[in-house]
Parts: sequence; C-alpha cells; structure tokens
Amino acid sequence: MSAIVAIVGRPNVGKSTFFNRLIQRREAIVDAVSGVTRDRHYGKSDWNGKEFSVIDTGGYVLGSDDIFEQEIDKQVELAIEEADAIVFMVDVESGVTGMDEDVSKLLRRANKPVFLAVNKVDNAQREADAVEFYALGLGDYYTLSSINGSGTGELLDALVKELPEVQVEESELPRFAVVGRPNAGKSSFINALIGEDRYIVTDIAGTTRDSIDTKYDRFGFEFNLVDTAGIRRKAKVKEDLEFYSVMRSVRAIEHCDVCILLVDATRGFDGQVQNIFWLAQRNNKGVVILVNKWDLVEKETNSVKEYTQKIKKAIEPFDDVPILFISVLTKQRIFKAIETAVDVYKNRSKKIVTRKLNDIMLPIIEKTSPPAYKGKYVKIKFCTQLPTPYPQFAFFCNLPQYVREPYKRFLENKLRENFDFSGVPITIFMRKK
Ligand code: GDP
Ligand code: GDP
Repeated sequence: MSAIVAIVGRPNVGKSTFFNRLIQRREAIVDAVSGVTRDRHYGKSDWNGKEFSVIDTGGYVLGSDDIFEQEIDKQVELAIEEADAIVFMVDVESGVTGMDEDVSKLLRRANKPVFLAVNKVDNAQREADAVEFYALGLGDYYTLSSINGSGTGELLDALVKELPEVQVEESELPRFAVVGRPNAGKSSFINALIGEDRYIVTDIAGTTRDSIDTKYDRFGFEFNLVDTAGIRRKAKVKEDLEFYSVMRSVRAIEHCDVCILLVDATRGFDGQVQNIFWLAQRNNKGVVILVNKWDLVEKETNSVKEYTQKIKKAIEPFDDVPILFISVLTKQRIFKAIETAVDVYKNRSKKIVTRKLNDIMLPIIEKTSPPAYKGKYVKIKFCTQLPTPYPQFAFFCNLPQYVREPYKRFLENKLRENFDFSGVPITIFMRKK
C-alpha cells in the first residue's frame, strides 16, 4: 500500500504536465467530471524505490474567478483531508496571485507535509524570479520545469522522505475491501456482515492514519475488512463524494487481497465501476463482483445470464471473475458472497508445484506451440510458478522476445482451465533459458 500525493494549484500552472511526468508511461485512471471541473487523474509513481499514488486534482475549464476560488478551496480541503502529502504548484510566469495566497492560507493550517513547487522555471532568470514565493509563508520552495524535467528530482527526493512508511500488519487473514460507487450498498453490506452484535475482534492499526483494518469473525470465517468509501461520508456535494470514493477505493484496493466490488443493479456496470475493476486488476488483487439490489430488478427468464454476459464483455479478457447477484436488503446470498471472496483469496495464494504444472502444461504446449515469428521457432522447455504473493508464471524458452501476446493469453487460458484461478489476475513471463 502506498501513500497518496495530491497536486493542487490554480489552472494552467502545469499540474497535469507534472503529473504526466510522474506517472511516465503508466496508465492513469480518469475520473471524468462534468461542469466546470476538468477530469481528475489518478496514477502510480515511484521515486528511489518508494511507490506512491498521485492525484492530479484537475482544473477548471471555464467559469468566473468566483467559481474558481470556491472550487479550488474545495479541492484543497479534500487534498488536506485525504492525501498524505500535498504538492502546491504555482507558476513563476504569473508570479504570486491572490488565489495562491488563499490556498496558502488553507495549507498553512494543514497538518500535512506541503511542498511548494514553483513551476515553469525553465532558465536561470526565472530561478531568481521565484524568490517572491517566499511571501506565501510556506517556507522553502522547489523550483522546477515540468516541461523539461529539471528540478523535479530535488522535489521528489524531499517528497518521498516525508511520505509516511505505510506499514501493513502481516496477517494470515484474508483482507477484503468492499468497494464501489456511492450508493451501491457498501455500508449496508458491511452492516449486514457485522450484524447487530458487531463481531469485531480487534482493531489493527494498519497505517499511520486511522486504522483501516478491522477483524471480523462471521459465518465461520475470519477476515479483515478494509475501510473504504461508504463507511465515512463527509462530502457535501455529489461530485466530491465521487472523488472521495475513488480516492478511498484506491487506498483500500492497494491494501487488500480481494476486492468485493459492489454494483448497483439498477445502474449497471458503468465506466466508473469499470475504473475500480481495472484498478484492482492492475494491482493484482482478487475480485468478486456483487450485483446488489437484485430485489429491485424485474426478472425475466434470462436476466442473470444476460447481465453476466454484459459484465464479462466489459471486463474482457480478464473475465474469469465470479459474479453474484445479491440483495443486501433481503440478505440474499450474502453468505455466499463472503464464501466466494474466501475462495478467491485461496486462489490468489495458490501455489502449483512445478512438476504438476509441467506435467499439465508441456503436453499442451507440445500440441500447440507458439507460432513461428520472423521465421524462428520458439521452444518452451519448462515452466514454474514464481514465489510471489499472487500468481505469476515463468515459461523458459530459447527466444522469449518472439512470443506474442495472443500466445501468452492462450497459456493463461490453459492455466485457468486446469487450475482454479477464478477472480485472480495471472501474469505470464517468458524467460530465456
Ligand atoms: P494545469 O492546468 O495546472 O494542469 O496545467 P497544464 O499542465 O495543463 O499546463 C498549462 C500550460 O503550461 C501548458 O501549455 C503547458 O505546456 C505549460 N507548462 C507546464 N509546465 C511548464 C514548464 O515547466 N515550463 C513552461 N514554460 N511551460 C509549462
Ligand atoms: P454506499 O454509499 O455504497 O455505502 O450505499 P448504502 O449502503 O448507503 O446504500 C445506499 C442505498 O441503497 C440505501 O438507501 C440502502 O438502503 C439501499 N440499498 C442497499 N442495498 C440494497 C438492496 O439490496 N436492495 C435495495 N432495494 N436497496 C438497497
């Protein structure tokens, strides 16, 4: 699990340029928001071996200065509340503005590390100009040019030093994160799990901030629940609620073994839910999809099948994921849901002994070997599961670089057919032998 860094500042100071530099070629998650706000982006970065999540809190497409001001205040408050560190970006070209001063006022009261980044310092003259930003009362600043990258190293050195060591209590118990959009039924689901007499056993201080793991003993299973969006809600506006929930999902997902993804059946498996799904997949977490509020859906003969197909289509090619239709209201299949999450947890930690793996996979490879590429034949000699916390397999061969994606997918499918990896992403490496 990694710390969260938020980038705040006025429009046009260079936040997204800096963000893109931080995440480099990695993919960002886009939280499309309508109205005056520009899309927000979430991505992963690392510096000196320390990984962190970074959030470009977006900017504003249009609107009067008044709107800007209100929006920026909100953005900064959210960042103060949710991030572990804040990069406050200002622009040397425009110098100190009134809005910069307002933001500084909020940040000075924040009990979080704040890094004042003076951007667009592309040359030595501008280095000298940057001195006026001392007036913001935030102490030392870092000068940088997000466009050419100069200065970013110094800022990142200082930044990662201040990020909390997020220690995760080593636990043998499955860690489940209940995630989904606001209103999907996460709180109701958790309440149903906890029951009236609150089966809480202990609180584990998972992080430097409030504890996010709570241990439960329910239905004969012991597991930890990872705090997420639904549990606390302070945001006043719907748009912010969404922002909160994505941020919290990011954090909870990184901290869990299995994501229990709640979908509101009446709203469907839409883009925002898919974002959360891919985030889990990219972090190599197990996933169970629960289509909740099934009591509200008019059922025709095929609706479960059709609904399932629709979701599977949306999550291709990683569609070997359990999908359950539940109702928290009527307690329908709640037990089954936890049982399935436990199964996925077991699949994720499953280790196939090398001998058995080769006994099964080598004949399959013999029968369907990788297609010749540039006139060369690839010979796969053997395979093994790597000792990682989630399933990764290495296939040893003479020309690993000639094995293309479709063949890797073929291997993955065969692994899934022969061993149960339902709900768990699999990584396949081709290695030189
Ligand atoms: P945001 O609204 O804060 O996200 O700002 P953008 O990242 O979209 O940048 C706004 C403009 O400033 C764009 O035209 C960028 O190319 C430009 N810009 C960003 N960083 C730098 C920099 O370091 N130097 C200069 N000269 N321009 C920059
Ligand atoms: P959260 O924002 O994801 O935590 O969602 P909540 O647990 O607060 O639920 C949002 C609303 O959906 C509440 O009014 C719940 O009573 C309702 N709800 C939750 N689960 C179900 C369900 O299975 N069926 C129906 N009909 N309503 C549900």
